[in-house]
Amino acid sequence: MEKKDLGKLGFQSLCCHAGQYADPQTGAHNTPIYQTSTFAFKNVQDGADKFAGEKEGYIYTRLGLMEEILPRYGIEVTFADLSDLDNVDEYLQDNTKLVYLETPSNPTLNLVDIEAISEKAHAAGAKVIVDNTFMTPYLQNPLALGADMVVHSATKYIGGHGDAIAGIIAGKEEMLAEIRMTTLKDFGGIISPFNAWLLLRGLKTLPIRVDKHTENAMEVAEFLEAHDKVERVFYPGLESHPQHDLAKKQASGFGSMISFELEGGYDAGEKMMNNVNLATLAVSLGDVDTLIQHPASMTHAPVPREERLAAGITDGLVRISIGIENVEDIIADLENALAVL
Ligand SMILES: *Cc1c(COP(=O)(O)O)cnc(C)c1O
Repeated sequence: MEKKDLGKLGFQSLCCHAGQYADPQTGAHNTPIYQTSTFAFKNVQDGADKFAGEKEGYIYTRLGLMEEILPRYGIEVTFADLSDLDNVDEYLQDNTKLVYLETPSNPTLNLVDIEAISEKAHAAGAKVIVDNTFMTPYLQNPLALGADMVVHSATKYIGGHGDAIAGIIAGKEEMLAEIRMTTLKDFGGIISPFNAWLLLRGLKTLPIRVDKHTENAMEVAEFLEAHDKVERVFYPGLESHPQHDLAKKQASGFGSMISFELEGGYDAGEKMMNNVNLATLAVSLGDVDTLIQHPASMTHAPVPREERLAAGITDGLVRISIGIENVEDIIADLENALAVL
């Protein structure tokens, strides 16, 4: 819909008209509320162009990183692969205050031994925060394994329906009290009442959803592992995962994030994305429905290839967040998309 020319309007007219135009989809006169955390891409090119900033449009409600903000507060950040415990001794420095980790990691599904890292970090006088988003509090409890604090993107499994952006911090009361009185109160990163309400509603079915997610993911992982167009599957629930034993030890389930490497590399990834039907091409994860993305041609398309490869994001790597649909429908969708390769 055409935007109105506001240039010549008086102030009261401007107040009535600025920022408002009929919704192109429905013609709604008032601005609709899009209660969504993520946005579907029409195809790979659409996603790549939006990530590269070459096309206007929505991707995900919030993007940001440790590299941009923390250095402005005088905090030095070193990135390390903590799935290799030897790295921990090398990277823990005299001035290390905090070890921040996620396990399984995104998108390569490497695991980090929370108990072992916590021991090493504590011995060096550092605290440990675990991003437990992929596992949820239902499957993995980092505090019981020695971590000091746990963070969740509640946008994902906890909310579960892709309709709210929110985060959760759990840990010892004195640390939480300090966060409440500093970052929360002074910076104001406060969840809205409606989003809190959505999370509470999502939470009621968390275990039931995660059980179904996990059950579906195991079947899909086995299907993918047996498929001749798929070179490798990264899923902690598979015996072929190099850290399968650790996954069994530190969590009570394997979650529903799967990554896999396609035989045909970049082109195969692109082609597969353009041929899925049930799965939605989108970032984010942990929604009730299946979301799929090919980092090399989409999220990481603007990143130089060498950098991408160094982060384990190979040309044919596909990431999928398995939903709670009928598993045979998910498998049929992937089977059809793989058949065009
Ligand atoms: C999505 C995600 C985040 C960021 O969460 P927001 O809800 O967007 O703030 C952090 N960690 C992991 C593992 C995630 O999947």
